[in-house]
Amino acid sequence: MNKFWSSAVSRTEPYVPGEQIEMDGLLKLNTNENPYPPSPEVTEAIQAELKRKLHRYPSPSVDSLRKKIANYYHLDSEQVFVGNGSDEVLAFSFMAFFEPGKTIRFPSISYSFYPVYAKLFDIPYEEIPLNRDFSLAMDKFFQTDGGVIFPNPNAPTSLYLDLKHITDIIENNPNRVVIIDEAYIDFAKESAVGLVNKYENLLVVQTMSKSRSLAGLRVGFALGHPELIEALNRVKNSFNSYTLDRLAIAGAEAAMMDVNYFNETTRKVTNTREWVAEDLKKIGFSLIPSDTNFLFVQHYKMDAFDIYAKLKEQNVLVRHFNKAPIDNYLRITIGTDDDMTLLLSKLNSFIHTKSVVRH
Ligand code: PMP
Repeated sequence: MNKFWSSAVSRTEPYVPGEQIEMDGLLKLNTNENPYPPSPEVTEAIQAELKRKLHRYPSPSVDSLRKKIANYYHLDSEQVFVGNGSDEVLAFSFMAFFEPGKTIRFPSISYSFYPVYAKLFDIPYEEIPLNRDFSLAMDKFFQTDGGVIFPNPNAPTSLYLDLKHITDIIENNPNRVVIIDEAYIDFAKESAVGLVNKYENLLVVQTMSKSRSLAGLRVGFALGHPELIEALNRVKNSFNSYTLDRLAIAGAEAAMMDVNYFNETTRKVTNTREWVAEDLKKIGFSLIPSDTNFLFVQHYKMDAFDIYAKLKEQNVLVRHFNKAPIDNYLRITIGTDDDMTLLLSKLNSFIHTKSVVRH
């Protein structure tokens, strides 16, 4: 605390991202990045852009990228907002749709950036405990005072909520905005994007960081009724006219266009996820059914933190959350088949399968 700090800065508790260690030989399975590089067309587009107009400002409205996203989802450009990673889009959404004095709700176990934005913007919030099986306590999200936000599939649990339940939450908050954070939806079943034309209070937020292999480029977007998008533009244009630079715009457009590459890499990740889940069960792990590019696992015998520490000693990084009731779980990002074979061989070196009791 410092006498020069504003009250917003004084009350905020900044988000701490997963460890970002850059080291040769490190197997990094802790921040849900895609193990595959972006489409070669992305690299080409960025290289071409480098030779064009870096001395000129980029487009403030980013129409060309918004149009490509709109086409992909069969929406109009006025239903699309783009930002510098979905974190920025989420932060703008908190400012645009939630406000001091009106309590919003989100699950107690979900993306830990939500309480950070809420504190920064002075928005009261209630964290709704998950059910014992980690599903959402549905009716607790009905008739909220200030609005609702949650990830689908949820993070870090990896559990998907079907659209029937999402619809119930939207319909039971007719005067409040419901934000569905679909960071991992491309590894899951159906997106709520199809509901955007029907519900004026639904905002779907997505990212290019996971399924489109662009965590390093920082591009996220929101899809919703044109008036919700207008609200986001009002916030953005009160902060920074150019949140996406020319390279990010060029790369993101190429990524949206290369649908074959996107389909192929997401399929590879989900195929890997399925065999890894089976192999982890064989050595005593239990898993929440995953609809994401990560697995949320618990070992029947060994403590999660001990496994995290032993893996780290062997240059494998997974994510451990020091928070009840998930402090005995690990979140493991899906890598390539080779990455996961290496992970399993490391686990096998200190988890002795013979001692596993099958229930
Ligand atoms: N939402 C959820 C649920 C996430 O896990 C993440 C990744 N940390 C994000 C949003 C933010 O992703 P990005 O800012 O890279 O688009």
